[in-house]
Amino acid sequence: MPTYGLDLQAKGMVFDIQRFSVHDGPGIRTLVFLKGCPLRCPWCSNPESQRREQEIMFIARNCIGCKKCLNVCPSGAVDFDLPSRIRPEKCTLCGKCIEVCYAAALNTAGQEKTVETVLDELKKDNVYYRRSGGGITLSGGEPLAQAGFAEQLLAGCKANGWHTTIETTGFTTEKVLKRLLPLVNLVLLDIKHMDDQKHKKYVGRSNKTVHRNARIIAGSGVPMIVRVPIIPRFNDDLINIRSTANFAHSLGTVKELHLLPYHRLGQGKYDYLGRKYPLEGITPPSRGNLERLKMLVESCGLRCSIGGV
Ligand code: SF4
Ligand code: SF4
Repeated sequence: MPTYGLDLQAKGMVFDIQRFSVHDGPGIRTLVFLKGCPLRCPWCSNPESQRREQEIMFIARNCIGCKKCLNVCPSGAVDFDLPSRIRPEKCTLCGKCIEVCYAAALNTAGQEKTVETVLDELKKDNVYYRRSGGGITLSGGEPLAQAGFAEQLLAGCKANGWHTTIETTGFTTEKVLKRLLPLVNLVLLDIKHMDDQKHKKYVGRSNKTVHRNARIIAGSGVPMIVRVPIIPRFNDDLINIRSTANFAHSLGTVKELHLLPYHRLGQGKYDYLGRKYPLEGITPPSRGNLERLKMLVESCGLRCSIGGV
């Protein structure tokens, strides 16, 4: 593999690597999840992805009450009166409690890894990428929030001849986007709401940056698929979906839009992190409404699927 100019020792915070995915880009893929995101979507199914720094997750149902964590902690950060068990303000992330927890009740979310380590992991499935037309997908969090690491990782993937996809919120700078796009074969761009006030209120940032970046991606000629998380009572109305589909169609390079139905699979992780689940009382969208929205998207001139590719 030619690695000229590639910084194999560049480090990033990775919270998961999932092999054999068939949902986030073409063929069989390995997904690399980077930690850190500038948005705070209340429906996020990977809350451990939001903060850039490492965190400890406590899975209460695994705990056998041996108190080894309490005895080993040098910082007095273990607190049995706390549902999340660890006091983050005292924890130095030394990892000693995790080492002694044989019941796997304590786990780390996020590990600093080098580009070389991640590439070694990705190489294991080289043959599957080639046979299936698959490759690597960088996800998060927001993968572009660790722009330097993402750039080196994508460059390493290209040096190996792998197809690269980024799954992005579109919330990044023009400079970062333009630097990384030449290393990307496909962009999966999330568009959450067309109304800027609602976007700001629920996600914490304006959608203007996302729309500007959507135009930059379209202008680069890199193929793009728009993905819309369908969240009942937030963005699942006909006006918003029509407006999203028309915007996507107007970009010129977008031929396809995916509707990603809200689910509650990540809810337990909020407990592990000692956080409150923000979307209590919201149920997943009905099949009927999803089919209605799909027909609406198709009437705007785009292919549409419910779920990823
Ligand atoms: S070491 Fe693990 S199993 Fe033992 S009390 Fe602590 S969290 Fe529970
Ligand atoms: S990571 Fe270290 S400081 Fe934090 S709770 Fe565990 S033992 Fe204590």
